[in-house]
Amino acid sequence: MNVPAVSELAPPTRLLLGPGPSMVHPRVLRAMATPLLGHLDPRFLELMTEVQAQLRAVFRTENPFTIAVSGTGSAGMEAALVNLLEPGDAAIVVAAGVFGNRMADIVGRCGARAVKLEVPWGQVCDPARIEEALAREGKVKLVAIVHAETSTGAEQPIAGLGELCHRRGALLVVDTVTSLGGVPVEVDAWEADAVYSGTQKCLSCPPGLSPLTLSPRALEAVKARRTKVQSWYLDVGLVADYWAEGKRVYHHTAPISMIYALRESLRLVLEEGLEARFARHRRHSAALVAGLAALGCTPQAQEGHRLSSLSCVRAPAGVDEGAVRRALLADHDIEIGGGLGPLAGRVWRIGLMGESARQENVLAVLAAIEQALAKQGKAPRPGAAVSAALEAYAKT
Ligand SMILES: *Cc1c(COP(=O)(O)O)cnc(C)c1O
Repeated sequence: MNVPAVSELAPPTRLLLGPGPSMVHPRVLRAMATPLLGHLDPRFLELMTEVQAQLRAVFRTENPFTIAVSGTGSAGMEAALVNLLEPGDAAIVVAAGVFGNRMADIVGRCGARAVKLEVPWGQVCDPARIEEALAREGKVKLVAIVHAETSTGAEQPIAGLGELCHRRGALLVVDTVTSLGGVPVEVDAWEADAVYSGTQKCLSCPPGLSPLTLSPRALEAVKARRTKVQSWYLDVGLVADYWAEGKRVYHHTAPISMIYALRESLRLVLEEGLEARFARHRRHSAALVAGLAALGCTPQAQEGHRLSSLSCVRAPAGVDEGAVRRALLADHDIEIGGGLGPLAGRVWRIGLMGESARQENVLAVLAAIEQALAKQGKAPRPGAAVSAALEAYAKT
């Protein structure tokens, strides 16, 4: 057999300003290079307990069941849904973009009936529609909704939804993958029952874990199941026995280095303070959007509901948006995202998540986009975007 000639790992140094992963702090990278402990080592079990307390603080919850699921954000989505749904159940799913549709797909795979509330991409769902659907559909097990829809840049208001669901005997499941650590997430104040996130967005940790918190009400629903959870790996009943203090029963080997990384990234989040972090995301996204507006880019998300962690803007008319993204990567080592589904070829998605949300990154990406547009003869006055951003910064 031939030994493949694989060179030493030396990837280019990119500035990650796409929809994730985001930039990772050197402290987190160092944590990942720390020697391993066994996954049942008493010191490792302590580290897990620390991570649980940190996660409760960022989720703003008292839920005892707060863990990091092994796997990326989609694993958290799947864990929330497969544990709560049984064949024959009904679930209302707000489908306002890619990730709402992914939830509906998983609902169907659980053998449950997905009642999709379709929302035009970039808009948010009026809670009155959810209330109507709950009244109309009879017995509904849960309502699933995305807080920060990364495919459109829209931020869905969640406050009040938990109470609305509970009045009708339904649970509330919320995707906070692109909001946790960047945009206010209030698990207890929302009365949300299952909330998951991902490590590689506003928490600025590599992809690989999915924070998940379940309310006591959600755990009761899991306990009351008539059937086994279809997924052995994501069965929270089994996983809980590994995370629960005093139990610590082997289920699967925890990804040790990822837990180290998450612990360090959460230390950074909490050192900065949640409110300061949210304000930082708002400040830099306002400057970015002002700069993009000077280039003729208008936001896809409806006014008043624009995410600060991810800006989705329409590329200026007549511009080859893919050529601009390729030029950013080739000439500037900057990654931004393109559109998904119906927005493919029409929008740019620029993430300012966690470590990526910095003034130098905003100015760099604006200057780079302007230069790429100039190549297509589509740039306005040179420096227009950067000066619009600087004016926005001067106001804050
Ligand atoms: C990125 C993302 C996910 C999926 O996370 P992966 O880490 O890619 O599995 C789910 N929901 C939303 C809103 C996301 O932005």
